[in-house]
Amino acid sequence: MRIVLLGPPGAGKGTLAGLIKDSLDIEHISTGDIFRDEMKHHTALGAEMKKYVERGELVPDEVVTKIVENKLKNPIFEKGYMLDGFPRTSKQAKDLDEILNRMSTPIDFALYMEADLELIVQRLTGRRVCRKCGAVYHVQNRPAKVEGVCDVCGGELYQRADDNEETIRKRMEVYYQSTTPIVEYYRSQNKLRQVDGNKDSAELCKDVLKMLDEKQRHKN
Ligand code: AMP
Repeated sequence: MRIVLLGPPGAGKGTLAGLIKDSLDIEHISTGDIFRDEMKHHTALGAEMKKYVERGELVPDEVVTKIVENKLKNPIFEKGYMLDGFPRTSKQAKDLDEILNRMSTPIDFALYMEADLELIVQRLTGRRVCRKCGAVYHVQNRPAKVEGVCDVCGGELYQRADDNEETIRKRMEVYYQSTTPIVEYYRSQNKLRQVDGNKDSAELCKDVLKMLDEKQRHKN
């Protein structure tokens, strides 16, 4: 199954992907994680991307699309994947369709998660991420057992540089301007499936698995 996860920052795309990837036996590809990894390792790409990511602006379409295209050639993605944070503009969505049409592996569903703005800001300002394994926590909603330490691998938890109120505001503006048109793009292809991103992640995960199961059964 090939799924695009759509929704504003803080809707819970990454958390959901982490919860359902094993159940669906598919991979999780997050373009934001790819950039943060490049930045962490001080690569040339990371240095180039840093100014966009830290300001909450979008990395140029051609750069991010090329990265995704190269990644999708890896055979580990043949079993299916969830794209998280890509596409983010109409151009990226159209280019992705072209790439996947050439590979004869079109997207099956676009899962659209909406959440209230207040909740988004609360989620993002309290979000903490493990430097080592990328596990995601929240200081109130999902605290680590030991403050500042990852439950999974013992790595250090940190706050993303772009999870501050000013940059969050910018990211939301960018989302509404550049990314929301994609919702209509997938709706017009009859691939859009909407879920409630206000729900807590365990409940949402159950809803999504049930919905995907029903859709798959109707397809077969
Ligand atoms: P995310 O982790 O998805 O919130 O992404 C963090 C940041 O990475 C974004 O604010 C952008 O600066 C950059 N980024 C991630 N995915 C894309 C994309 N598809 N197009 C452009 N920029 C992106």
